[in-house]
Amino acid sequence: MLQGLLKPVRRRIGFWFDHLAPRGCALCDQALAPGAFPSVCMACILAMPGINRLRCARCGLPASAVTDQQACPCSIASPAFDQTVAVADYVAPLDRLITSLKFGRQLNLARPLGELLATRWLGSTPAIRLDCLVPVPLSASRLAQRGFNQALEMARSMAASVRAPLPVMPFGLHRLRDTPPQTGLSLVERRHNLAGAFSSGARFDGLHVGLVDDVMTSGSTLTESARILKAAGACSVVALVVARTTRDSPA
Ligand SMILES: [Zn+2]
Ligand SMILES: [Zn+2]
Repeated sequence: MLQGLLKPVRRRIGFWFDHLAPRGCALCDQALAPGAFPSVCMACILAMPGINRLRCARCGLPASAVTDQQACPCSIASPAFDQTVAVADYVAPLDRLITSLKFGRQLNLARPLGELLATRWLGSTPAIRLDCLVPVPLSASRLAQRGFNQALEMARSMAASVRAPLPVMPFGLHRLRDTPPQTGLSLVERRHNLAGAFSSGARFDGLHVGLVDDVMTSGSTLTESARILKAAGACSVVALVVARTTRDSPA
């Protein structure tokens, strides 16, 4: 009973502590102003490889190697998502933060990563419309093993750090089974590997959906998830990823 009464008080104290107490940059620990957003300092953001990279708007691959979007591998692979918002390249320091979040159980890192995603989305030109966020789900067994879905935690952080309402739909997609690693598989094999792995948990008629994940490598998981969201009525799907690998082509 007493525990139940104290819970909201503790939550409120935590909220004010978080917003008024000085915090350190998630990467270099340099002090940030209370309530600073994102909770990574500007010097660390600007030092991230790929942060200012020109990218293919559709799949997020570096655009430096291609003269126009027609030349990007995604013009052949045709991913089911319409656009990609990626913070930076999947190398240090982002790879380290993501690994610590997922495998080191450092759940506190979901906040800066979600905030970086929000910052990147808010800075998109032209502006990208999003009506809701759907995390790429984990299977029930993987979720039980890890205890949380990092994509959901990042989506929550992103939604909490923007002013406009941006509902997060934790059960927008379900993952019905785990799939073997995609590395070394061809485009057709990757599609076969993921067939039937996801199902939708809601209707998305007429909605512009932000599909949140930590990393895009081949893009196969995101494209299969986007395909299910569109079959459930979504009129557009934007892949929102913290980190993008720089070589693989989307499938
Ligand atoms: Zn820093
Ligand atoms: Zn592309």
